[in-house]
Amino acid sequence: MNKLAQLDQRYVWHPFTQMRDWLRREPIVIASGKGAVLRDVHGKEYLDANASIWTNLHGHRHPKINAAITQQLKKISHSSALGFANEPASLLAEKLVGVANSKLKIKNLKLGKVFFSDDGSTALEVALKLAYEFTRRTRGWSSSFSLSGNTLKRGLQPRFLSLAGAYHGDTIGAVSLGHVDLFHKAYGGMLFATDQVMSPYCYRCPFNQAKPERADARNYRKCHWECVGQVEQKFAAQRKKGNPYAGFVFEPLMQGAAGMIPQPAGWLAQVTQIARAQGALLIADEVMTGFGRTNSVAAVYDRRSDVLKTHDGHRPPLQPFQHLFACQQENVVPDFLCVAKGLTGGYLPMAATLTTQRVFDAFLGEYEEFKTFFHGHSFTGNQLGAAAALANLDLLATKNSVTQRAKLQQQLHDELQTLWALPQVGDIRQVGLVVGVELVKDWRTRAPFALRERAGIRVCEAMARRGVLTRPVGNVIVLLPPYCTTPKQLRQMVAALAATVAESF
Ligand SMILES: *Cc1c(COP(=O)(O)O)cnc(C)c1O
Repeated sequence: MNKLAQLDQRYVWHPFTQMRDWLRREPIVIASGKGAVLRDVHGKEYLDANASIWTNLHGHRHPKINAAITQQLKKISHSSALGFANEPASLLAEKLVGVANSKLKIKNLKLGKVFFSDDGSTALEVALKLAYEFTRRTRGWSSSFSLSGNTLKRGLQPRFLSLAGAYHGDTIGAVSLGHVDLFHKAYGGMLFATDQVMSPYCYRCPFNQAKPERADARNYRKCHWECVGQVEQKFAAQRKKGNPYAGFVFEPLMQGAAGMIPQPAGWLAQVTQIARAQGALLIADEVMTGFGRTNSVAAVYDRRSDVLKTHDGHRPPLQPFQHLFACQQENVVPDFLCVAKGLTGGYLPMAATLTTQRVFDAFLGEYEEFKTFFHGHSFTGNQLGAAAALANLDLLATKNSVTQRAKLQQQLHDELQTLWALPQVGDIRQVGLVVGVELVKDWRTRAPFALRERAGIRVCEAMARRGVLTRPVGNVIVLLPPYCTTPKQLRQMVAALAATVAESF
């Protein structure tokens, strides 16, 4: 066995991994990467089909991002945001505010303030704490604020609503928002209570009357938007208790770790409108969906004429593609926008929570009022991360990147159609450049594989042997190609999935 693999097995404990399984065979040790290709210590090459767990955008060792980090290294790697500002963090905050508010007309909803942290979990944690305290202050529950603790009656705590199957990270606050029993149940005793409401999982929706078809379940569903009705009821019931929800937490357009669950067009706009009308703060978790991942519903790439066209054949303005965030596609402006994974192009751990002047103002006061937001991390606003993020945003804005993403999305759509021939493919869910393929025992019945059959894991292990790396969510195979993926590489990714499913069952 390779020396580094030995060391890993002796000393390293891997995340979300049954280590007994891990210790049974030699792990793949990644030595280098270029573009969408990863290379291991034996020189074997793999395609990075899930963008290194949904982080990488433009490929590995991108010259522009490498150069930005190298340039920054010549100045300084890190100084503290506790007490000091720095160049790249200031520039990045301005840029983030720019892209988060593109075309926004509603002034008091503007996401004008940026709180930096380190990863998706902390971005959510920050939003949660800010929303909690903002609610206490604006509802007058903490008017006599004192350091000796508050005198809140139990039951009058700001309460949060999130979606069934939600995953928002692994810190205690983020876990409290989560509703994946497998991950979260064991820690129930450590968590605070939140509520859940059904998510629009069309493929397995109890309200969907449609028989299975060989198409994305969103497109043939027969229902009356009962899922939206459920959200409405949930908000109304909580209001009746005299403590309307303080915040509604959601992943816009596509829930990732829940199993790549996409929302039918219009769901997001409707439920956020309900939440707002009920006075809840909107907390958008765009840790996976942000930075162009879920882009461009409005146009398709026409291969014959090599131009982008709308579905009715017109050349669209490039504008719709320049929305970097999922919320923007349904004109939703959240009170908190949480970003992480792709922020630095997937190069360094950095996150940001964007929020409004209104929230910011609730924390303003004289020093001795102690209204300060007492929260921060050692590496908040790190210069190397911020430099990488600035380069990432520059790349995303280039016409080349915009076109490339649209082409890739269209090709992905076309390639995926070949998978319908497989009886174990139940649903294919694509939102922009995110894909979940749900494996079932038989597509006609939607009968699921039991988790202990490890269908998803087995398929991904076999795909790895074919040189394509990804990780399943349960029985859902995830494809999330880096934006630099070539047509040939994309074909390889889908072909490996098809061949593997065909031979595995
Ligand atoms: C990955 C992820 C998180 C957690 O981010 P970490 O960087 O792993 O802490 C939160 N929300 C969503 C939607 C994610 O995909």
